[in-house]
Amino acid sequence: MSNPHFYPIGTPGQAWGAAELAQWRARQVRQRSYADDVLTAVDLLRERFDVESYAEVVYGDERFALQAIRSRNWNSALPSVLVTGGVHGYETSGVLGALRFVDAHAESYAGRVNLLVVPCVSPWAYERIQRWNFDAIDPNRSFRTDSPAQESAALMRLVEPLRGQFAAHIDLHETTDTDGSEYLPAVAARDGKPFEPHGIPDGFYLVDDTANPQPAFQQAIIEAVERVTHIAPADAHGGIIGSPLVAHGVIHYAMKELSLCAGISGARYTTTTEVYPDSPQATPEQCIAAQVAVVCAAVEFVG
Ligand SMILES: [Zn+2]
Repeated sequence: MSNPHFYPIGTPGQAWGAAELAQWRARQVRQRSYADDVLTAVDLLRERFDVESYAEVVYGDERFALQAIRSRNWNSALPSVLVTGGVHGYETSGVLGALRFVDAHAESYAGRVNLLVVPCVSPWAYERIQRWNFDAIDPNRSFRTDSPAQESAALMRLVEPLRGQFAAHIDLHETTDTDGSEYLPAVAARDGKPFEPHGIPDGFYLVDDTANPQPAFQQAIIEAVERVTHIAPADAHGGIIGSPLVAHGVIHYAMKELSLCAGISGARYTTTTEVYPDSPQATPEQCIAAQVAVVCAAVEFVG
C-alpha cells in the first residue's frame, strides 16, 4: 500500500544515503537563469551602488557568483540594515523584492542608514525553484559555525566583519503550497522521519526571534504590509504552521538555535517575512510589493 504523504525517494523510517541524494538531485531541473534574472539586474545597479561578488558557489561544473549591494559612502555612524533574499531559492518574491527595493527606494535612505542587500543567497536553488541546495541541505537551517551549506557559510563570512553594527536584518521568504506537497515530505523522507502535515496559511506573516522579541518593530511592518496584501489569519489551533500567534500576523522561532538566517547579524531588530504567493487573493506583483513594503517599513523604523 502506498502512503500518499510519503516522498517518492527512499524508504520510510530510513534516512537517505548517497544513492537517495543522487536520485533527488537527478529530479531537479534547471528552470530559470540566475544570470539573466539576478546578475543582469544587479549590473544595472552598479552606477548607483557598490556591488561586490562576495563568494562563488561551485557545484560540479556550475559556478555561481554571489553578489551583495551596498550603499555608497558607507558611514559607520549611521544605523546599518541587512536585507537578504533567496535563502530559499524558490521563494521568488524575496529575490525580486530585494532587487526592487534597491532600485526604487534605497537611494532615498542615503544619509539615514547604510544598506547591505544580498538579493539571492542560494542561486543553484533559484534556478531549480528548489528549497534545498545541491547537497539536499536547507540553507536556512545551516547558519552556524562549520556550516555544511556553502551558501550559508559565504553569507556568514560576508556579515561577520559587520556583526554588531546592524540595527536591523530583514530576511525575505515565502510560504508556498509546495511546502506542504513537496518540501516538508522531502525533509521527512531525507531524515527518515514521519511526515506531519500542517496547514499552509493564506496570507502574509512575520517570524520574530523567540530570544529577542521586538513587537513594536513587527507591528510597524504588519501595518505597512496590510496596505499591500492580506495578513494570514490564525488557524483552527490559534496559530500558524504549528506556532502560536503572538500578535496579528506574528509568530516566534528560535533564530539562533535553529541556525536561521535571521540570527546571523546580531541586530536588535530582526524579522523573517513569509509571503503567500499561492493565495487566490494575491498576485505575484503584490508579493513583490509586500516584500518591498517590509523593507521600507523596517528601514523607516530604525532610520
Ligand atoms: Zn523560506
